[in-house]
Amino acid sequence: MNTGIVIKSTGSWFTVKGDDRSLVNCKIKGTYRIRGIRATNPVAVGDRVTYTLQDDNETGLITHIEERKNYIIRRSPNLSKEYQLIAANVDQAWLMVTLTSPRTFPEFIDRFLVSAEAYSIPVSLIFNKTDLYDEALRSELAWFRKTYRDIGYPCYEISAKEKINTNQIRSMMANHLNVISGNSGVGKSTLVNTLDPSLNLRTADISIANKSGRHTTTFSEMHEFSFGGYIIDTPGIKGFGLIDFGKDELFHYFPEIFKASSGCRFHNCSHTHEPGCAVIKAVAEGTITESRYLSYLNMMDDEGGKYR
Ligand code: GDP
Ligand code: ZN
Repeated sequence: MNTGIVIKSTGSWFTVKGDDRSLVNCKIKGTYRIRGIRATNPVAVGDRVTYTLQDDNETGLITHIEERKNYIIRRSPNLSKEYQLIAANVDQAWLMVTLTSPRTFPEFIDRFLVSAEAYSIPVSLIFNKTDLYDEALRSELAWFRKTYRDIGYPCYEISAKEKINTNQIRSMMANHLNVISGNSGVGKSTLVNTLDPSLNLRTADISIANKSGRHTTTFSEMHEFSFGGYIIDTPGIKGFGLIDFGKDELFHYFPEIFKASSGCRFHNCSHTHEPGCAVIKAVAEGTITESRYLSYLNMMDDEGGKYR
């Protein structure tokens, strides 16, 4: 019996890094269910597992998966009733944002933050490419930073390319299991390479799944930092967006809306139109940022009764 952590998954083979630091390719026996949903892959990177070596003494068999502190799943691209486990036991998520080349929109940020809240994963924002910002973009950046800091999300301004403020990110990622996400082209792989040149990630490693858009395998991998800890590049933002909760719960995942809602006249207030709604009042008074509220309304308008 050995224990270790899954660092790579192809959907049928799982690379396990043993606590003795050996690498073993494992298969898994039997079927595993996650709270009643059907998953195409039973094990994800980040899973802690028990495994035994096979007779060949080279490959292994996973016999037990330890309880997960959290996990990220997404709907299988071609089988709508099935899900893919993307990662388990995530310590912190990082959303990389750029205001130019490309431009990240507030609603994109807010949707990501809602997912992270729903998964109970702490998230920080990294504003990258600050070397490109002119005065107008700088003042916009100040708005973003204030908006998200006030709600409670740590914000960092960096230039991955010029290596500005990247040491701080390195020390916070060290010895944790990190997930990094963001639009294609914002600089995720550049940052990872700056943090740890020994990883030598090709840009393509991170964006392949985004670009093809029809990524049907359940391939995922996490990279071990030479300074300790892991980083997982999620296959696209959609990979981070799944959890089942009703629309009546959506406001729980906007921390400032949730906080204000205790003052609403009706306990089942949807914060969209009701008289005596403390959220609408807070938006009017400017204590809740309008763009955040608009994201909330847009998400309430999404099709289907559930978020996924
Ligand atoms: P990814 O798709 O998020 O992994 O983005 P990449 O790391 O591949 O970066 C996309 C492009 O942005 C590349 O041409 C990088 O050189 C460039 N880039 C990344 N970080 C910065 C930065 O801080 N400043 C500038 N000016 N360019 C950057
Ligand atoms: Zn209300």
